[in-house]
Amino acid sequence: NRIIFQKELMKQDWTHIKRRDIILKRELGEGAFGKVFLAECYNLSPTKDKMLVAVKTLKDPNLSARKDFQREAELLTNLQHDHIVKFYGVCVDGDPLIMVFEYMKHGDLNKFLRAHGPDAMILVDGQPLQSNGELGLSQMLHIATQIASGMVYLASQHFVHRDLATRNCLVGNGLLVKIGDFGMSRDIYSSDYYRVGGHTMLPIRWMPPESIMYRKFSTESDVWSFGVILWEIFTYGKQPWFQLGNNEVIECITQGRVLERPRICPKEVYDIMLGCWQREPQQRLNIKDIQKVLFAMGKATPVYLDILG
Ligand code: AMP
Repeated sequence: NRIIFQKELMKQDWTHIKRRDIILKRELGEGAFGKVFLAECYNLSPTKDKMLVAVKTLKDPNLSARKDFQREAELLTNLQHDHIVKFYGVCVDGDPLIMVFEYMKHGDLNKFLRAHGPDAMILVDGQPLQSNGELGLSQMLHIATQIASGMVYLASQHFVHRDLATRNCLVGNGLLVKIGDFGMSRDIYSSDYYRVGGHTMLPIRWMPPESIMYRKFSTESDVWSFGVILWEIFTYGKQPWFQLGNNEVIECITQGRVLERPRICPKEVYDIMLGCWQREPQQRLNIKDIQKVLFAMGKATPVYLDILG
């Protein structure tokens, strides 16, 4: 079975990267399927002989995990946009299976927000030394606008993500933000997911009532999640409904309660959140309009930005 599957993988028209061209440097994190490493990759760039990449490994996969791996790789090959993490290819000659991505220097957006919030301090020998520098309003809008751009693209491809959250976005140089995970991130943030019998894990805190009640996912349910992403950004990465347990969260959302306005969030931005959290999917804002409004706010006069920046 495995050999047949290996042949299936090889047959596909993806960029195949040779194992000897990948030199692992250090571990970056751990996903549900295996570890993520920083690596050097040779013969990838036409201009440089080697470049830094992030590789996701899939160790000792069973058949169903291999199939998930194949599906994610196919899907990633077809998704290409400035605000979707770049996928370079796979390495399937032997174990572990590897996916190669562009390296995003500052890691996931949730960690980044926490590191640039009011509680973040750089500790030296356990002593606070200095703050990392808090994000200001214009930077928050810039982050949100980029995620919205990536989502406009996903919607244009009729692609429903189902798991949009800051933990699944990545941050690169110069506050560049990309949507960076398509279904392999369920482990380290496991408290963000709710197990609903068997193996299904659901990110209920990011889900609208119709997804929680009827498992209905759509471009409109992704817009709801984007509203929650905005809330995460303006709280420097707090967990939505952090004060509640999973069953209480389900009750709360299905009854129609919504998250409160974060302390530093301007009314105009909270209005966008409320537009994402309309109970009727058809009543929600569309992502194109959200992207435009956020972009315009970001471009607005520096005086305006300085009020809360
Ligand atoms: P994931 O399995 O995608 O959730 O990845 C686990 C962790 O590895 C993430 O939370 C990131 O901190 C890190 N990571 C994943 N992909 C990248 C990447 N392309 N560049 C840098 N760090 C990454």
